[in-house]
Amino acid sequence: MTAHLSLFPENDVTTEATAPKFKPFTRQTITQARQWQWLAPELQEAVQVISHVLPFRTNQYVLDQLIDWSNVPDDPIYRLVFPHRDMLPAREYEQLRDLVLHKKDEAAIAKLVHEIRMRMNPHPAGQMTHNVPRVNDAPLKGLQHKYKETVLFFPSSGQTCHAYCTFCFRWPQFVGMDELKFDARETTELVSYLETHPDVTDVLITGGDPMIMNTRSLAEFIEPLLGPKLAHIQNIRIGTKSVAYWPQRYVSDKDSDDLMRLFEKVVRAGKNLAVMGHYNHAVELRSAVAQQAVKRIVGTGATLRMQGPLIRHINEDPKSWAELWTTGVRLGAIPYYMFVERDTGPREYFALPLARAHEIFQAAYSMVSGLSRTVRGPSMSAFPGKVVIDGVVTINGEKLFALQFLQARNPEWVRKPFFARYDPDATWLDHLKPAFGRQKFFFEAEEGEASLHGPAGRVIPIAQAPRQNDRRASDTQPDAA
Ligand code: SF4
Repeated sequence: MTAHLSLFPENDVTTEATAPKFKPFTRQTITQARQWQWLAPELQEAVQVISHVLPFRTNQYVLDQLIDWSNVPDDPIYRLVFPHRDMLPAREYEQLRDLVLHKKDEAAIAKLVHEIRMRMNPHPAGQMTHNVPRVNDAPLKGLQHKYKETVLFFPSSGQTCHAYCTFCFRWPQFVGMDELKFDARETTELVSYLETHPDVTDVLITGGDPMIMNTRSLAEFIEPLLGPKLAHIQNIRIGTKSVAYWPQRYVSDKDSDDLMRLFEKVVRAGKNLAVMGHYNHAVELRSAVAQQAVKRIVGTGATLRMQGPLIRHINEDPKSWAELWTTGVRLGAIPYYMFVERDTGPREYFALPLARAHEIFQAAYSMVSGLSRTVRGPSMSAFPGKVVIDGVVTINGEKLFALQFLQARNPEWVRKPFFARYDPDATWLDHLKPAFGRQKFFFEAEEGEASLHGPAGRVIPIAQAPRQNDRRASDTQPDAA
């Protein structure tokens, strides 16, 4: 392998002979991993049963280097990748367990699994309806356009991941729910759409995880964005969890040097290549290879932003966030978002009250220097936009949440402060009530109008299909992955 020359010569040493090969494990193959034997029978059973509903995939690096097996099942990365029995209500678990382990009735299993999945709000509001752009009344497959300046693109070959997160809101992408899946096989429609939308400055390539693609395939999606007709595209973002689950992608995979050259090509074309790195826990940035990946990415002139959701059982400790951000900053990354866990999948298992989320964010924020305080949160990627909890205040004797939009379907809503009655149990925007005795939040009166006109106000009308499982809740968060 030819060494890639970066700003960090110590990072240029990669040899194919010693490079680890990516090896995924799924429900069908996990028994071949040596760590499987270390699991108690009831934990093995939960993995086998629940993974019928929630997709399960991990890899050798996660098993060997990220999970502390002396701390299973409480280890955060174990909970991040292995299904746990409490992710389903007890009755559902027993029903499914009976079918999977005893009756072995495939048709009955498939029926029950489908029912459970549909209960889990597989596409939180708007993703399949309000955000899909249409041309000549036909939806553009694999595109979402919610905010005026940003288009999301889902390449079909990037709709899987190096490992799956148990909380993932993109899980329908992985389980063959085709009617709930969005992806694009090539960029022709994306490029035509962008050519007619000069207001769009950012393209977010997302998944799944686009970095699952080899460099040649990734280049086929990225290079068309560098042409002269798309000079208005300033930022090409790639949402990815690979920096945590498979940092070898940037360091020792056989085309990792080619990948670095692709990043440099984008930068040389005058664009900002922004890797939106999804990190959940400080342990994901402790290994030498994970740190080397960050250095190699930023060594190309690309930027790496760190973001991830706050999840019960996984990253409730503010010290973990503070360590993650400070390590990232030391390596050249930029802390960006702490998200509130979304209302999809086994949400009861992972959700934290907004009040608690705010306390954790505050505690972590107070532990770091100004350079890490580029981070924003806790932020809900909700139906009307990204709403951040700024604080808890008392006004005229009423305890309130102070909130604002960081992003919104209507750009005029952004950074307008607004207030909700304090509720210690609320876990999402739609649980909150307006303050000062009002019936509606300021944006609710306008929402119908905004959804008719779409993100740019003059974008081709957005699909008007009825909302599916709509709890007026979340929408696309830049990436998850
Ligand atoms: S959160 Fe991201 S990395 Fe994790 S499974 Fe979902 S899309 Fe993949």
